[in-house]
Amino acid sequence: MITLSVSTNQRVDFVDITSRVREAVASGGVQDGIVTVYVPHTTCGVTINESDDPDVAADITMQLGKLVPHHAGYAHYEDNADSHIKTSLVGSSEQVFIEHGKLVLGRWQGIFLCDFDGPRTRKVYLKILSD
Ligand code: ZN
Repeated sequence: MITLSVSTNQRVDFVDITSRVREAVASGGVQDGIVTVYVPHTTCGVTINESDDPDVAADITMQLGKLVPHHAGYAHYEDNADSHIKTSLVGSSEQVFIEHGKLVLGRWQGIFLCDFDGPRTRKVYLKILSD
């Protein structure tokens, strides 16, 4: 397993980690297989979406903020219930196929770490399996 360390810069922050996953896969030497990208946190997840236009990530974070406001009478004592809920909505892992040593992503797709309770340094675990 490979561990990446990713720093975020604000409370809600989407960080494009595609190039770091790509580098890890390239150095892993697997030609055909699959990489699982797993985030071991409860207020930070991972998603795949458009990486070409940064407004897409901004729109997603804006709309998630409307769906799940920071304060809404939650029971959780830590003042970050919204962060937990948003993490469950986006999920904690993604899987990407590897063919000929490269990630199989669509033309506009990127892999984003989604921090909902930053800024912090987060971990991303990568597990690369060969066919
Ligand atoms: Zn909490």
